Amino acid sequence: MAPSASLLLLLLLGLSQALPLLENKDRDGENHGDEGKDADHDVYDDEEKQQDHDGDNNGDEDKDGNHDVYDNEEEKEDHVDISTRILVANNNSDVMFVEGDMVAPTSRNAMKCYYNSCLWRKSLNGLVMIPYVIGNEFGGYERQVIQGAMGAFASQTCIRFIPRTNENDFVMIVSKTGCYSALGRTGGMQELSLNKAGCIYGGIAQHELNHVLGFQHEQTRSDRDYYVRINYENIIPSTAYNFEKHDTNNLNTPYDYSSVMHYGRDAFSIGPGRYTITPIPNPNTPIGQRNGLSSWDITRIKMLYSCQQR
Ligand SMILES: [Zn+2]
Repeated sequence: MAPSASLLLLLLLGLSQALPLLENKDRDGENHGDEGKDADHDVYDDEEKQQDHDGDNNGDEDKDGNHDVYDNEEEKEDHVDISTRILVANNNSDVMFVEGDMVAPTSRNAMKCYYNSCLWRKSLNGLVMIPYVIGNEFGGYERQVIQGAMGAFASQTCIRFIPRTNENDFVMIVSKTGCYSALGRTGGMQELSLNKAGCIYGGIAQHELNHVLGFQHEQTRSDRDYYVRINYENIIPSTAYNFEKHDTNNLNTPYDYSSVMHYGRDAFSIGPGRYTITPIPNPNTPIGQRNGLSSWDITRIKMLYSCQQR
């Protein structure tokens, strides 16, 4: 219980540190999850302009300078990692993101985490039920991908994503501009966006669903400097805050290069070949995988939610 509580607390504290921009803009942030979108427009617009400083007005450009991400998915699938896809898909979003794909919470609610309320509650049967609704905009194939991702949690942990009946707290899965999620349980309806054009992949869905459980990005761990070098000279300056370390409780698990929560080496890069994250000591260690939950991701879910069973 205690480690869980402290982890979530630290996650939220870390978030609030990462959000000075939003804090200044979002003065009436008492809504749920999608608060302050209007207020955040100008923040995002600034960022978009900054990104276009590298000489390309095409908002769909991906970090490798390729322009065919949406046009040629099959071919790209073999060498595009999850984080690249997420960041590309979010490039045109009007939502203010933390580290690329986490919706900024109403951070004043972080205090609730002292009482564990940003975790999802466990049922008497030992399972953690997370109600969801898949928006009507999704077709059969898309539902299949999303539910397949949910199945990966169910088959390996005590987490169960269940269709909502009348529960108060639930995840509303929508296709808006980008792939993003809130962090942990926010209370009431919380939005998870999987844009139909850029986010319908099992690995991306698992990444966003893992944010729903309360997990942050691996490369912001408190001890990350022992395992990766952050190349600030290659980072788009206005996005540098995405690389701030957080004082995380790492559940006594090792740094996991293979985590589905680890960003790729060119996240927020200023240009092709200008890597922002370099593994230490072996720079060729793969990071930013796209297949789904790693074995440590699974172990951490079980630890955070004290799963006694699958
Ligand atoms: Zn993320």
